[in-house]
Amino acid sequence: MPLTVGQIIVNDCLPEEFRDYERVLDSNGLEALLQRIAHERPEIYSDVTKRLMDVGNDAAFDEGVTLRLSDCETGFDKTPYLKIVADAEAAIERDKSLTPAEKSEALGEVYSKAQASIEKGVFDAELKKRNQLALQVASKARGSKGQLASFISTPGSFPDSNGKTVPMFIQHSFAEGLSPAEYWAGSYGTRTAVVQAKIATAKGGAFGKLLSQSANNQVVVEDDCGGVNGVPMPLDDDDNLGAVLARDAGKYKAGTVITKSVLADLRKDKKLDEIVVRSPMTCGCKSGVCAKCAGIRETGGFPPIGYNLGTNAASAFAERITQGALNTKHSGRLASGAGAYQGFPMFTSMAKVPKSYPDKATLASVDGEVVEVKDAPQGGKYVFIDDGSNEKKEHYVPTGYDVLVKPGDKLEAGDQISDGVINPAELVGYKGIGEARKYWAQRFTQGIRDSGMKGNRRNAEVLAKTLINNVELEEEDAAGLPGDVTTYNKWAFSFKPRPDTKVLKPDAAKGMYLEQPVLHYTIGTRITPSVIKTLSKFGQKQIFANPNKPAVTPFMQRVEDSNAARDDWIARLGTTYLKDRIVEDAQRGAESHLHTTEPNPSLAKGVEFGTWGQPGSKNKSELFTY
Ligand SMILES: [Zn+2]
Repeated sequence: MPLTVGQIIVNDCLPEEFRDYERVLDSNGLEALLQRIAHERPEIYSDVTKRLMDVGNDAAFDEGVTLRLSDCETGFDKTPYLKIVADAEAAIERDKSLTPAEKSEALGEVYSKAQASIEKGVFDAELKKRNQLALQVASKARGSKGQLASFISTPGSFPDSNGKTVPMFIQHSFAEGLSPAEYWAGSYGTRTAVVQAKIATAKGGAFGKLLSQSANNQVVVEDDCGGVNGVPMPLDDDDNLGAVLARDAGKYKAGTVITKSVLADLRKDKKLDEIVVRSPMTCGCKSGVCAKCAGIRETGGFPPIGYNLGTNAASAFAERITQGALNTKHSGRLASGAGAYQGFPMFTSMAKVPKSYPDKATLASVDGEVVEVKDAPQGGKYVFIDDGSNEKKEHYVPTGYDVLVKPGDKLEAGDQISDGVINPAELVGYKGIGEARKYWAQRFTQGIRDSGMKGNRRNAEVLAKTLINNVELEEEDAAGLPGDVTTYNKWAFSFKPRPDTKVLKPDAAKGMYLEQPVLHYTIGTRITPSVIKTLSKFGQKQIFANPNKPAVTPFMQRVEDSNAARDDWIARLGTTYLKDRIVEDAQRGAESHLHTTEPNPSLAKGVEFGTWGQPGSKNKSELFTY
């Protein structure tokens, strides 16, 4: 790379050890540089950012950017793609077997593939020409590849206000000028985007607040709970960085902090595909979390005692979501095949678990073998599962969803049989709290990333822990009366293994229920072949198993109600439906305590706020660990 004046000016702002004259300082590069400075030299961070900002301001004032007419033209030839689209359109139109809805979906797919190729082609060609607009996109200063293609080549297709593809591939760019019909087709998406921009900030903010309310008692309460449990996670997930190994992996012992070099080393071992990491979801603290299970935070170290992990995790997502929701203003909602399973509606559904869950995947309701898949008369498919009883169990997969199983497949209750998004509230019932939390953390993070935002899985784990954390008691026990709803954590800590519990090898416990948590599986998890397989994979020799299910029903509440089972009545005032909560609490004679992980009581009393767990703080008696 040639040495530019810009490189010299930027590097002059930095201390010697951070200078690099070969570096490309686009948005990712800048973020990486600032992160390094924050970790290695936090004392100069504010100084350096100020100097870099001044360089940016000066450059914007002195230089500006000149757009040439030639920047509004592209050398990229779109005609082969327009021909492919026209041929596919004709074929879809001729196909008598397709319903109008299927035609629209097929068109959407053709358009989105063609548009993706055009966007890439235009961007690559223009970057080579050093087109000013393409350079802005490359630096991430402004605009996206899609917007560049819309401006100088073609916007492709748009959805209407209901998100359905408008059946017309727009051939002209904004620079060339649209025909009236093309303009009209595009106006739907544009109007939707304008409306969305008006409500996005409010929606994103409100959602962030709900997540934060749900997680705000996840305070770091001690250095190390000594917990031996953890969650199996794919080794290729970079979000393992900063977590602590819960089980030995390769040559590394449990307790090792996963750094870049540890991760790179582990990945050399071709036999390893998953590692077990400690997680807030499996932390052994009765309330709050320990620093080791929280892992290395943004500061580059373990969080100090008193650090509110929950609030930090919630706001990390809320910021991205609000910003990301706003970004739709610039792009419109371009139609694409996978689009249905991402974006704001997808991840709010994961937290609000509405009764009619959008894009819901069909799950197996029983263990058994798939014996038949056939067309349903009303459209869609029926999948029949033989669970050994007299009647084969019928499962309906609606039109528009692919069936993912075939006759002969062996399934467990809760396994996915069609594409779509698994409703986590449904999964809890089949597979238990532990498995549902793991799914939630991974799928939520994936949804955020699919929507073009950044999100760390380890933050999602904190949210999963608080969102999927309710049990209803079937019998009276230490945690309450039959019908009472309490948190899983509170119930689990008062739960003692029952007399008929056996210590068994995992494969000898098939069909029984876990009496003690192991890996990410929670108490009461049904020991199925897949659970046994996972336990064996990670060398679990013995488990506590009981032939009978514990007398609780685990379930997931919507985020608005996830706090409802908290004990502290002042903490519950930080939620919704306050009148109902106060009436309930008055009936129960509920208490509130200053010295717990709940921030609201301290805030309400205005005393000792923020001093919890600090040196000199006396009352730790309400916090127990394993
Ligand atoms: Zn812990």
